[in-house]
Amino acid sequence: MGKGTQAKLLMAEFGIPQISTGDILRANIAGSTSLGVVAKSLMDQGQLVSDDLVNQMVADRLAQPDTKRGYILDGFPRTLNQAVWLDEHLAGKLKQSDCNPGEILPVVAIHIVVDYDQLLHRITGRRISPTGRIYNTYSNPPAVAGKCDVDGSTLVQRPDDSEEVFAERMKTFNSQTAPVIEHYRGRGRFVEVDGDQPVEKVTVAINAALHRLRQSANH
Ligand code: AMP
Repeated sequence: MGKGTQAKLLMAEFGIPQISTGDILRANIAGSTSLGVVAKSLMDQGQLVSDDLVNQMVADRLAQPDTKRGYILDGFPRTLNQAVWLDEHLAGKLKQSDCNPGEILPVVAIHIVVDYDQLLHRITGRRISPTGRIYNTYSNPPAVAGKCDVDGSTLVQRPDDSEEVFAERMKTFNSQTAPVIEHYRGRGRFVEVDGDQPVEKVTVAINAALHRLRQSANH
């Protein structure tokens, strides 16, 4: 967890877009699209949306011109199938005649590791304002419970942040997402960062690791 926050900070630092599959799915739910209707019940139960649907969503997004200088995938890949699809998709792009190989940057996988109890608090304590400000009832509570400090609007809890759905999401993570970590671990361009520290320290650790990778690539 904390991946959304860190992805946004990386976006600002490197000037490349953050592509959050969870955000795209939530936007589809808000817009009542056919994808949103399928995704909602799965997400509300802590399950994953099917690989085919999510891969297509990512393919469409990666076809946008703002991804040319790189991008941050947030919450993707979440299954081994998605990771293999991404490998093949990027290899396919490299073969396209109009593609400049310099545009296809090497993939760096970042795993933010968080203790189970911390994660429980981060997720079940999360409250969000209508404009997207994120609070936490444990670690970053608003001055007035349930109200945004900036405009007093009512804070809401994501339906999938309840304790029951959290337990389901953990099961999903262990069975389907944990193998993705091993997929990237063996490849060298894999960064593991301790997420049980203040946001700024996590950012510093990620930047330091990216810097080290860049240095070693230049030698
Ligand atoms: P997130 O905002 O990343 O925590 O994602 C919220 C929910 O959206 C997840 O629990 C899944 O139900 C769904 N979701 C997000 N990304 C993916 C993905 N890559 N594959 C399948 N389902 C996803």
